[in-house]
Amino acid sequence: MKFCSQCGTKNIDYSVPAGDNRQRYHCLDCNSVFYENPKIVAGCIPVWEDRILLCKRGIEPRYGLWTLPAGFMENGETTKEAAERETMEEAGTRVRDSRLYALFNLPQINQVYMMFLAKLYEPVFAAGEESLDCKLCLESEVPWDQIAFPTITYSLELFFKDRTNGKFFMHTADLIREKSSSRFINLASYSY
Ligand code: ZN
Repeated sequence: MKFCSQCGTKNIDYSVPAGDNRQRYHCLDCNSVFYENPKIVAGCIPVWEDRILLCKRGIEPRYGLWTLPAGFMENGETTKEAAERETMEEAGTRVRDSRLYALFNLPQINQVYMMFLAKLYEPVFAAGEESLDCKLCLESEVPWDQIAFPTITYSLELFFKDRTNGKFFMHTADLIREKSSSRFINLASYSY
């Protein structure tokens, strides 16, 4: 942070503000504190009959790898709206009956993933600006070694496992990055 967005001064410090308990950017002239908090990534597992809709990424990071439609939530929308908007933007299709299916904490990169299970209205879709391609995949057709993010791999694994067992749960887990890999801990599944 180079200058204060409130008063324009360059008199910015990164330290513990008075009355606080952790380091933050704050302005030494007008005392504005600039809080940084985790970002929410909302996405869908779009289902059509026995297939799920995957998108091939047309942007970095992980250009050319496959993912579920997902992206950063915008101000003024709900998590479900964000997931459905991302599905429209990246896969050009509307979904219905969206239900929260998985919540992943990624504390090391300050993100929370909220993945919704949703149904396609019809098997009609089109790659959006951020996608190179989209396809409806059977479980046997999922390109497991070309999935963009561990959260997406895990969402798909949970979905296919639940579908095989004939009962869907809501799942939570925390993704921890280690040296060259990452793994999920604190796995929990809920039914109500
Ligand atoms: Zn200021």
